[in-house]
Formats: sequence, C-alpha cells, structure tokens
Amino acid sequence: MDAMKFKDLDLEEVVKRVLSGTQLDRPEALAILNCPDENLDELLAATLRVREAMFGRRVKICVLRNAQSGICPEDCGYCSQSRVSRANIPVYRMQSVAELCQGARSAVESGAQRYCIVASMRGPTDREIAHLASACEQIRVRYPKLELCLSIGLLNLEQARRLKDAGADWINHNLNTSRRFYPHICSTHTWDDRVRTIENVRAADLLVCSGGIVGMGESDDDVVDLAYATRQLGAESVPVNFLHPIPGTPLGDSSFLTPERCLKAACLFRMLNPRSELRAAGGRELNVGLRQGELFNAVNSVFVNGYLTTAGWAYDRTRELIERAGFEVEPPLAP
Ligand code: SF4
Repeated sequence: MDAMKFKDLDLEEVVKRVLSGTQLDRPEALAILNCPDENLDELLAATLRVREAMFGRRVKICVLRNAQSGICPEDCGYCSQSRVSRANIPVYRMQSVAELCQGARSAVESGAQRYCIVASMRGPTDREIAHLASACEQIRVRYPKLELCLSIGLLNLEQARRLKDAGADWINHNLNTSRRFYPHICSTHTWDDRVRTIENVRAADLLVCSGGIVGMGESDDDVVDLAYATRQLGAESVPVNFLHPIPGTPLGDSSFLTPERCLKAACLFRMLNPRSELRAAGGRELNVGLRQGELFNAVNSVFVNGYLTTAGWAYDRTRELIERAGFEVEPPLAP
C-alpha cells in the first residue's frame, strides 16, 4: 500500500482531532514529517492553531547551567561530555551550592522562567543528591516562582523523592530517540533504563521533561516513535534538540538536517503532544537559521544563553526573534 501523502490530510480535520485529544495515527504522523517543502506554510499554519489553543502566543524562556562538565562515564554519541568524546570542552567537577544559586540568579536576570541544572554523569550518588537538594532548597527560598529543573542522569525513586522534597519542580531525562535506534547512539545504558527513571520521577510526583534529538541518522519511523513515546509517558515538557555536530564526538561529522526538516519535526511533536510545553532546544540557531521565527508556530519555549558546551543566542536577540515572529515572551520574574 502506498504511504499516505501530506496532500491526503484534511488539515482542518487534523487540527480538530488533535485538539479533541485524539492521537493521530502513524500514516498521518509520517505524512506530517514528510510534508513537501512547498506545503510547509500550510503545515505551520495548522500547527499554530494547536499551539495557540493551548498556549496562546506566549514563549517561556529557559536557562541551562552545566553544573559538572566533561566527566561522564557514558558513551552517548552526540555528547561532547561523554567518555568517548575528544571534544575540546571545559572539564570540572560539581559546582558548589553557592555557584548553583548564583546560576539561578543569573537565569532570573536573563529573563528565564525556568532554570535547568544539568550535570554530566550516569546518575548521582546519594551524596551528590544531598548537595543538589541543598542547592534546590536555597534557590526555592530565594526565587519561589522560578521553575526549577534538574537533569542529572538515571535516578531511583528515593533520589527523585529527595529532590521533590527539596523544592525541585521538574526532572529532565530525555529519551533522545526511538527504542529501536537507541543502541546506535549509546551502549552503556538502554532506552528502558531511561524509561525507568522517568517512571521514578513520575512516582515522586515531579513533572516530567523528556524529549530528544533529531538529526542523528535515525529514520522517519524513529522520529515518529519518539514523538509517540513522549505522549505515552505524558511528558509535560518536551525539548526537541536539533543535532549540533560537535567535532571530536562520534556524530561530529553528521549533517542530516535542513531548516525545513527541523520545522516539520517540531510540527510533528506539537501535533502528537498538543498539551505539553514544547521547547526548541540545542542546535536551534545552527540548524534552523533564518527560519527560527517559524519554530514558534509549534514550540512555546526556548533556551537562551547557549547550551551545555555550545554557544547560543542571548536573551535580547532571542526576544527580538520572538517578537518579530509575532509572539511574546513571558514576563521576567522579579529579581
Ligand atoms: S549520559 Fe548525558 S552527559 Fe553522559 S554522555 Fe550521555 S548525554 Fe552526555
């Protein structure tokens, strides 16, 4: 049987079904991801209707903090901080509680509503959990409205509960790609290990931030599977990264993305995760380039001030991008 084509989709009907909570089926999802470039404006317009119905025209700002850099024992092929990476990046152990609190202050001053503490590690020891919990407690007191997220690898239930008690709101743990493709990007842990961590996060009553990376050589089915998986896990926040190939990493020479491919992937994630906060994450500036403003038809959140080991746009430049595209940044928190 021939695959469904984008022109076979009734976009009016698709938007209605998405907004009513119906999950699009696989042929429809693949047709969206394979939308011809000449029809991309129609897809973006339909996606905007879903985005606006759920999130209006607001864009949330997030700031990352690399709390421990370049000393991870895992071997994720896209990551500059893995044990197999030869990338030239800063290497340091866990920052002090004072440094992590200072990071929260900088995030608020940069207009962020969400502060994400990220550490390169397989997973934290209980001592590291105590350290991070202490930072969370202090940040929570100083900035009660700042959304506080941690991305610190594999977590058991007790560790997740400790972070929840300390005031963390979110845990980020990306699935990254499909279960099928996962062995192609990592051999030191499995996709199922990641799902177990997300289940622990959920059981600890923390909010789940989980998305992935497009552009690693995966198939269309892998991208669609990832978008379905984030829906099935009920991830309240879904970051979509566009691979930024870093020299010295196994994927350092990869070049699979165009701005159009990135936009189609963002539309797909929005259509399959209509109620989730969808964030344009790493690789946005590099891969989407002059079409970045159109991403906001799908996403309602972005990172400013760069990523863990790659540079990105600062708040002012990003705000200008958002406003020129006809959207508005969420008001900054009080310092
Ligand atoms: S677990 Fe995280 S920090 Fe470690 S190599 Fe994988 S992506 Fe990088």
